[in-house]
This record gives sequence, structure tokens and C-alpha cells, in this order.
Amino acid sequence: MSTHLESAQRVVVKIGSALLTDDETGKLNRTWLQALVEDVARMRARGQEMMIVSSGAISLGRRALKLAPGKLKLEESQAAAAVGQIGLAHAFQEILSAYGFSCAQILLTLEDTEERRRYLNARSTINTLLKLGAVPVINENDTVATTEIRYGDNDRLAARVASMVSADCLVLLSDVDGLYTAPPHLPGAKHLPEVAEITPEIEAMAGDAASIYSRGGMKTKIAAARIATEGGARMAIANGRPLHPLKAVEEGARCTWFAAHSTPFASRKRWISGSLKSLGTITIDAGAVKALMGGRSLLPAGVIAVEGDFGRGDAVTVRNAEGNEIARGLSAYASEDARIIKGHSSHEIEELLGYSGRAEMIHRDDLVLKKP
Ligand code: GLU
Repeated sequence: MSTHLESAQRVVVKIGSALLTDDETGKLNRTWLQALVEDVARMRARGQEMMIVSSGAISLGRRALKLAPGKLKLEESQAAAAVGQIGLAHAFQEILSAYGFSCAQILLTLEDTEERRRYLNARSTINTLLKLGAVPVINENDTVATTEIRYGDNDRLAARVASMVSADCLVLLSDVDGLYTAPPHLPGAKHLPEVAEITPEIEAMAGDAASIYSRGGMKTKIAAARIATEGGARMAIANGRPLHPLKAVEEGARCTWFAAHSTPFASRKRWISGSLKSLGTITIDAGAVKALMGGRSLLPAGVIAVEGDFGRGDAVTVRNAEGNEIARGLSAYASEDARIIKGHSSHEIEELLGYSGRAEMIHRDDLVLKKP
């Protein structure tokens, strides 16, 4: 089972607040974080792409602001996050840079992963950062996220991020070592090392988030597992308490793995071709058809005509000059801009539009060829 982590290419690691902050002092647990970063460095050295979703802003900030213990009001937790996020990012930066990594802070709101245009931006920024060798450290933008528009918990945020960036592995580091058939302190409660499918029985095992058995959070972890595994990532719930928790998982420490239901690639292609309504048509010449068939992106130069009214990131149908549908994809340009740059080479885009957009009209990652 250890190979699940070792064989992954793109890994999202989620860290819960309880791991990062010391219960007694409320201070950031540097020794622990340093050990975690050592784990990350080792995985990076193996060629794995790593990103971290970290909680802890609110728990660090509430101490700094001397807020009373107990449940915070929304505006108090937003204020706490504003203060705590600085310390959190600072600690990551300091420790990551000691290992030679640039630390990139990304604060997301729900729309960034749910709304297609923003999703494409966030995805592309994270991809660029990974390409440049930085380690993205992601949290919810708690200061501006109000109740209706927030993820609320970083388990689901991490799962959305994993599927947004087509990660093939998500590890939720928590204070429990996985899912049990019943509250772990009860006799007969059995630990589940593998979950092939999230059935209603599995959901029932997660109990209630507010359970008195301190299994709080298992419900959101199962919800996260659903999102991640449908997006093509396998997910682990593992005990993050010991130092070097990722190494421990690799070495066989007890945890629960949820099997992925597809590959990130297949899941994204299914999303593009199946779930999105096409809002326009892009007609392309024979040269562009050949490029697409060869697995390349669609460049503006090969576009003959643009029909419909669509925005950036909307789904469009791609047709050949004879009018046959050959692909579906997400357009990197809104229809009015697409009309202006059609037939032109990519280096003319800036002059034509007044801004330097993407070189591709539809990037190959956003393109699904129709089966002949
Ligand atoms: N975004 C919150 C924070 O950084 C944490 C949310 C969670 O614990 O799931 O404090």
C-alpha cells in the first residue's frame, strides 16, 4: 500500500490546524512543520510534484488577537484568519526556503474552483508554479469568504484543488489514522485500510461531524474522498501527529486509502465533453485538424470562423471546414476576441487585442477529440 504515495505524480497534502499549532501554547509547531517539509523535499527529489493545503490561519490568529476560546463568530474568524495567515505563510516560506524551495501562497474562494473561468486561471497559475519548481501553499481566503460562499473546511478545499489541478493523490493529514467501522474507542471498531467505493455504509461510518466521540471532521473527509476519487485522485486519511508523517505512510503506517474512480485525465476529459454545454462553434482549417489529431493545441492561425456568444473558459464545439464536429474544448478567448485573432499567428495577439493572452485558442489539455 505504501507504493500509493510513492507512485503518485502530483500530490496534494492537506494539513489540519491541530497538527500545526501546539495545543498548549497555541504557537506554530515548527519542529513538526520542518519534518513535514523534509518529507516534501524527499518526494520532490524523486520527481513528484507537491503542493500543500494548510489550515491554521484562524487558530494562529485567534491567539494573536486574544479572542476567547470557543466558537468564533464568522467575522471574528475572518479577522483571525487575516492575522494568522501572515504568520502561517511566513513559517512556510522560511522553512521551505531552507530546503531550497520557493513558497507560493494561494488563497482561494469557492468560486475559484467552481466557476470555470476562475478555475482555469487558478489551475494555470498552479501549473506554472509547479513547472517553475515552487511549492504552492494553499488555504481558503477566509477573510472574504462569507458563509454562503465558502468551502468552510480545508478537507473539501483540498479535494477541489486536487481535482482542479488533476492531482493523482491527496493525503489528508489529520489526528486520526483513518476510517473505522465504528467510533474507534468502542470495542469491535475495525480500521479500514482500503475503501474501494464510498457506499452509504461507508458514509454511515463517518458518523456525525459533531459526534461526541471526537470523530468530528470524518464526514467532511468522506465528502472530500468523493470529490477527489471522482476527479481521479486516490485519497488517504492518515495520522499526521508523528514527525515525518508522509514518510510514515510510505513505510506502511496505518491509514485509509480510498481508491480513485478514474484517472485525472479521463475525468477532466469527461467533464469537458460530457457535462458542459457548448456555447459556440469554432471552424478550423485542414492544417489545424491535422495538428489536433496529432495531439496538439488549437492555435488562432488555424481558425476560419467563430460563431456564437461565449466567454473565456466556456465550452465550444470545434468543426472542420466541412462542418463536421471533430472536438470539444474550453476556449481561452471570449467569442469577440476569438473573432479578432482568428487566422492570425499567436505573436500578433497582443497587438490585436491590447493584452497578451494565451498562445493557444484551445489548449490541448482543454480539448477532447470526438471519437471517429
Ligand atoms: N481555513 C481555515 C484556517 O486556515 C481552516 C479550515 C479548516 O480547518 O478546515 O484556519
